[in-house]
Amino acid sequence: VSTWSAVPAGPPDPILGVSEAFKADKDPRKINLGVGAYRDEQGKPYILPSVKMAEELVRASNPDKEYLPITGLPEFTKNAALLAYGAESNPIKQGSVAVTQSISGTGALRIGGAFLARHYPHSKAIYLPTPTWGNHIPLFQDSGLEVRSYKYFNKETVGLDFEGLKADLKAADEQSIVLLHACAHNPTGIDPTPEQWREISDIVKEKKLFPFFDMAYQGFASGSTTRDAFAVRHFVSEGHQIALAQSFAKNMGLYGERVGAFSLTTANPEEKARVDSQLKIVIRPMYSNPPIHGARIANAILSSIELYAQWETEVKGMADRIISMREKLYNTLQKDLSTPGEWGHIKSQIGMFSFTGLTPPQTKVLAEKAHVYMTSNGRISMAGLNSGNIEYFAQSVDAAVR
Ligand code: PMP
Repeated sequence: VSTWSAVPAGPPDPILGVSEAFKADKDPRKINLGVGAYRDEQGKPYILPSVKMAEELVRASNPDKEYLPITGLPEFTKNAALLAYGAESNPIKQGSVAVTQSISGTGALRIGGAFLARHYPHSKAIYLPTPTWGNHIPLFQDSGLEVRSYKYFNKETVGLDFEGLKADLKAADEQSIVLLHACAHNPTGIDPTPEQWREISDIVKEKKLFPFFDMAYQGFASGSTTRDAFAVRHFVSEGHQIALAQSFAKNMGLYGERVGAFSLTTANPEEKARVDSQLKIVIRPMYSNPPIHGARIANAILSSIELYAQWETEVKGMADRIISMREKLYNTLQKDLSTPGEWGHIKSQIGMFSFTGLTPPQTKVLAEKAHVYMTSNGRISMAGLNSGNIEYFAQSVDAAVR
């Protein structure tokens, strides 16, 4: 009898399962709005011109393939922290940000989870918004934290349940951990306003909660890396010590290169050095040290005034195309087709995704009848839409909700 005969089959990944169904569909009209990866006007994967140029620079420097240090490429992590916190932030100026390279955003969250499970001196409970990125839940459980939730989404208004959010954070156990999506909340596309962020910061302070920011979309939400960093920078300026997971998958289109960073703000350089030493002890038995190529590309952009400026324009280009698709979809559904329901949220939501309000049975009909694929919670990746398929998509939605 086989050693593994008792291993039960697990359920397929809800997002990657959508891509498989899409691949198997032979209809030429098919659309994949499942996975959160940017597509250009032709529906094709997009390599940013600044990334191509950075890659040329890296190649031209003829670099070796030696191991990186445990915490990655030092220039890259320095520049990544600068991008997130801003040059004016106190922890940056004091040299008290402990930062390590990570296997993209997922790896950053995982390092953070493991570090907090081992060294956070208070409650090991982490509060996640409902809903949240599906991977957050198993990720933090597997890190050794106790996963709890706070209200985030209001089904009636297809907007933020701010009262529910505040009530849940006020009722949370003191000194536990709270996960906050820094911008472009996934899957809802709904962010607190700056005023609401200020209130959240006050509650977090009052309850002595520890804020852990997941920033997977800096620049990708509004088109401005500064604007999208508002929440992180506000919390830091209010004196919070924070944990931060950064990803360069979306804003540089470096998905498969797995480029990210995890950081903690500390009291002073001496404390930072102690925290750094423990980050290394967490990382070393996981994977020893991170991959080198993507970090070199990202660093070539972040360290060059010209490439950085070009990159910012290109991020804005991606954000603007998505915003224009939101306009177009809203206009087609609400005005041209008079599709039953209120569709204003498509325009007001931000980032890669839109939470359409389509129900699981409707998403099933869309896949089976119209060859349009999305996750069953009605989330669509706006980047999968373009002028060639948006009319067909809107008509299919119209038919599915009537
Ligand atoms: N956090 C959130 C909220 C995300 O949406 C994603 C990407 N889907 C990630 C983290 C991590 O992505 P990656 O590991 O590719 O950087």
